[in-house]
Amino acid sequence: MNVAGLTIDAARSAIEQRVTSALTLAEEHYARIEKEDGQIGAYLTLCRDRALAQADRIDRLAAEGKPLPPLAGVPVAIKDVMSTRGVRTTAGSKMLERYIPPYDCTAVGRLEAAGAVVLGKTNCDEFAMGSSNENSAYHPVHNPRDLSRVPGGSSGGSAASVAADLAVAALGSDTGGSIRQPASFCGVVGLMPTYGRVSRYGLIAFASSLDHIGPLTKTVKDAATVLWTIAGRDPMDSTSADVAVPDYVPELEKPIRGLKLGVAKEYFGDGLNDEVRHAVEAAIDKLEKLGCEIVPISLPHTPYAIPTYYLIATAEASSNLARYDGVRYSLRAHGVKTLSEMYRRTRDEGFGAEVKRRIMLGTYALSAGYYDAYYLKAQKVRALLARDFDEAFRKVDAIVTPTSPTAAFRLGEKSNDPLSMYLADIYTVTADLAGIPGISLPCGETKEKLPIGLQILGKHFDESTILRLAHTYEQS
Ligand code: GLN
Repeated sequence: MNVAGLTIDAARSAIEQRVTSALTLAEEHYARIEKEDGQIGAYLTLCRDRALAQADRIDRLAAEGKPLPPLAGVPVAIKDVMSTRGVRTTAGSKMLERYIPPYDCTAVGRLEAAGAVVLGKTNCDEFAMGSSNENSAYHPVHNPRDLSRVPGGSSGGSAASVAADLAVAALGSDTGGSIRQPASFCGVVGLMPTYGRVSRYGLIAFASSLDHIGPLTKTVKDAATVLWTIAGRDPMDSTSADVAVPDYVPELEKPIRGLKLGVAKEYFGDGLNDEVRHAVEAAIDKLEKLGCEIVPISLPHTPYAIPTYYLIATAEASSNLARYDGVRYSLRAHGVKTLSEMYRRTRDEGFGAEVKRRIMLGTYALSAGYYDAYYLKAQKVRALLARDFDEAFRKVDAIVTPTSPTAAFRLGEKSNDPLSMYLADIYTVTADLAGIPGISLPCGETKEKLPIGLQILGKHFDESTILRLAHTYEQS
């Protein structure tokens, strides 16, 4: 079976109708990974035994003519920040090079319960810190659309695996844009759900108040299917919300005519690449032709989003990453004489440069005497950013923006300039700070044939509306 462009529905129905088997489909994906992934670098670990056992289970159900679950036999990839029982989980770090979790992340468990076949774990920036995947302690990921370019980050391996047909769908995590930005760089769909919509249980923490798990897929419908599978209250995560999960797929077909779409001038200012601007403006025109009403809005605190994000994210990271002390998890420095030397040497050997930079920034922001001036102040600005969205959503149903100010840049182009890398997160960090959902979907290409992403932001727990808009746009 040709796996190029293969979607969830196509894979599932091919298995249901016995045109192929889940086992064959998994093997076909592994064969492609064997052939292609040497130059892309999307995967860090493959879990063939686990995948084939699951595929076999599905094939037996199909052979018995039993009803198949919604993701029956669908080959998926999981960002290596999600724990997988018995399968190495590194978070892209040397610190966890030999870490084998004793339990599954809830989102992964729910995918498998719905029949998905987990092929392996995908490469990412170390502890999900980065926008280019160049901070992986193992190797970079190359953008399948142009191997000299980055796939985006930090879920670069997940985005590349879907774009290169090395998986039908993938899970990523988004703390400041890490699902949506790599989706836009690789030309796939990436959905960040509302904070609390999907359990974070088993997600290796970066910044707990900002971390979200969500899908990267080839189509909007596939994103709806995956979200429906993984969403909903989980007793293992007290921040997971007890809010009903609608059946997103039938909702996709409802009309979008009459919906009000906000366009914020703050998202179209300096620094936005012209080709990206034109593609996004053309997409907005198209949505208008499809019957939406375009409403100019203002999100006045947007200029403060980057400093606010990089204070809160680093502060929470410095606290979360304190657990890697050489006592627990995998790495421990050898030949140390005292406890404090073990802590220091383990952390020095286990963490890469970007992670160390963030721990230092975050520890500084949280330290006595500076807490009020930095962390507390950032929390206040975060509330203002959230209020901007609340006010906008009184007038509009969704907000359309570019996902990233540029298309994929070259490997090495920004890696020595962390500040310019941070500034490129301007259009994505705001939604994480406000806790609202956002989707990125392809809306065109640059002259060099690099994908451009359109971002649609929605109200809290209203993933249905942004999925419906995205689906209607994609189908037109
Ligand atoms: N690029 C952002 C950062 O480096 C976002 C990371 C993320 O969403 N995990 O922090």
